[in-house]
This record gives sequence, C-alpha cells and structure tokens, in this order.
Amino acid sequence: AKDAGKGQWRRYQPELHAVIVERLQLRTELERSLVAGGFELEFQPILTLADSTVAGFEALVRWNHPTRGRLLPGQFIDVAEESGHIVALGRWILIQAITEACRWHATAGGAAPYVSVNVSLRQFRSAGFLASVHAALSHAGLPPHRLMIEITESMLMRDDDRILADLAALRREGVRIAIDDFGTGYSSLSYLHQVPLDAVKLDKLFTASITTDPKQAALVDGIIRLARTLGLDVIAEGIETAAEHVLLASLGCPYGQGFRFARPLTPQATLSMIIEEFDT
Ligand code: C2E
Ligand code: CA
Ligand code: CA
Ligand code: CA
Repeated sequence: AKDAGKGQWRRYQPELHAVIVERLQLRTELERSLVAGGFELEFQPILTLADSTVAGFEALVRWNHPTRGRLLPGQFIDVAEESGHIVALGRWILIQAITEACRWHATAGGAAPYVSVNVSLRQFRSAGFLASVHAALSHAGLPPHRLMIEITESMLMRDDDRILADLAALRREGVRIAIDDFGTGYSSLSYLHQVPLDAVKLDKLFTASITTDPKQAALVDGIIRLARTLGLDVIAEGIETAAEHVLLASLGCPYGQGFRFARPLTPQATLSMIIEEFDT
C-alpha cells in the first residue's frame, strides 16, 4: 500500500508541480502588473427593464497579461484572493470605478448612472476597507448613493458580526449594497431581512432557464415577490434574449443586465453611451 501510494504520488507530481508553478508565476506577474498598471476596467450597463434606460454600470476588471494576452477575472481573481493581492487590486478597482462614475456625473448630472463594484471577502475584511471607501468617495466628490457594492452570499453566511456592522456603516453613509449571484449559495431566504441590504442580483443560472422551465420561472417569481416585499431591488443577470427580458419584466423584476443589452464596454464606450442617452 505504501508503494502504491508512492507510485501514485510520483505519477501525479508533475501535474501538481505545474499547477503550483503556474500559480506562483501568476502571483509574481500580478504584483508586477499592479505596479506597472496592467489592469483595466470595463463597464456593463444595468437597465431598467420597463423602459430599457440605463440605471447603472457594473465595473468588471480585466488583466492585460504581459505574455498571455487579455485575461478575464475568472483566470486570476482566485489567485489574487489567495495571495492577498486582491486587497491592492481591489483598492485600485474601487478608485478607478469611482473616478469613472465622476466623469458620468459631470456629463449627466443628477440623472447619471451609478457604478457597481465587486468586492471580495478578503478585500472587505482587510484593515481599513471602510476608510478606503470613504476616502475614495470624498476625494472624488462622488455622492455615496452613486456607488453600489456587490458582495457574495457566502460572505453573509459566515455569520460574522463585523461584516454585518461594516455593511450597516456603509449603508448609513449612503453606499448601496447588493448580494451578487443570488440563489447559488446555500442561502435560506430567511436571512435576507436580517442583513443591511438594498438589492439582490439574481444569478444568470436562473435567467438562462426561465423561459424554458416553468418551475424555474415560478421560483424566480417567488424570489422577486419576496425581495420586493422586503423593499429590495432585484437585478437579473445574464439576460441574453428578448424573451428573457419580456418575461422578467412581466414578473415585476425592475432591473437587469446581460448581452441582450450590451457586453462590458471600455470606459470610453461607456462614456459615449452615457452622452448619447443623457445629453441633449
Ligand atoms: P459577476 O459579478 O457575476 O459578473 C458578471 C459576469 O457575467 C461578467 O463576467 C460578465 O461579463 C458576464 N456576463 C454579463 N452578461 C452576460 C450574459 O448575458 N451572459 C453570460 N453568459 N455572461 C454575462 P466576467 O467579467 O468574466 O467576470 C466574472 C466574475 O469575476 C464576476 O462575476 C465577478 O465575480 C468577478 N469579478 C469581476 N470583476 C471583479 C472585480 O473587480 N473584483 C472582484 N473581486 N471580482 C470581480
Ligand atoms: Ca457582480
Ligand atoms: Ca453575478
Ligand atoms: Ca460572481
């Protein structure tokens, strides 16, 4: 048995080795790109479903990797989270997103869309996170309600009083809070009213099957009703077809985003869209 174990270890070792080396390499490159400015944000519109006007934009990070080209967050956020680089990267993302939102504000004034920023657990719990949000907002002069922060369900399931207290503090300042990927975690709906919260983002898994699976549609209907009863906004993610848009709107879902409306846009294209929509 011992030999078999050894043999197995020897067989798997090269692959394991490659994975570890790749992750270590990504880490080093992350660090370099943080200094060299190798990251960019794109912005995907969030629409009011009833009239297809733009309500906000979600900031999504991209990495122009020195050798591997443009990487999506799925290819590096985990590593950044594991290594702790997410704290510095997240801070850059927040400042960048707020800076762009200020440009929108300067263009469209009071009707300007808000910016929604993804914040990971490690970033949220890092020392000085609250202060950094406050500083970024006041430095830029962006009204706090023009910022939404997206957190994950798993963050709330940790039953961590400090997280709840910090969320409450952000909301007192006027920042809005959304739960991302809602419905994919182990959430019981029952915790919704106990958490300081403004919106839930219905995961794209729901949207994808809503027009073909009546049970799924009934479930989404229930979630939307419950959320609205609790005074929460609902943002449906991953709307790809007109049929999904129409069905969600008819269920009373107020907001949505997805390729049906737009892919994530460069900052310049985002500004153009805002000028077109809000300027006269
Ligand atoms: P997410 O927060 O759920 O973001 C939505 C993802 O769905 C984005 O992928 C977006 O491009 C994609 N998407 C939008 N509309 C559609 C659609 O109609 N159909 C489909 N199939 N997909 C759609 P992206 O940009 O690759 O981001 C993936 C994930 O990476 C995000 O999921 C989020 O969890 C994370 N992420 C992105 N940016 C950041 C960031 O700045 N900080 C942190 N901590 N995480 C981020
Ligand atoms: Ca998100
Ligand atoms: Ca999501
Ligand atoms: Ca996600």
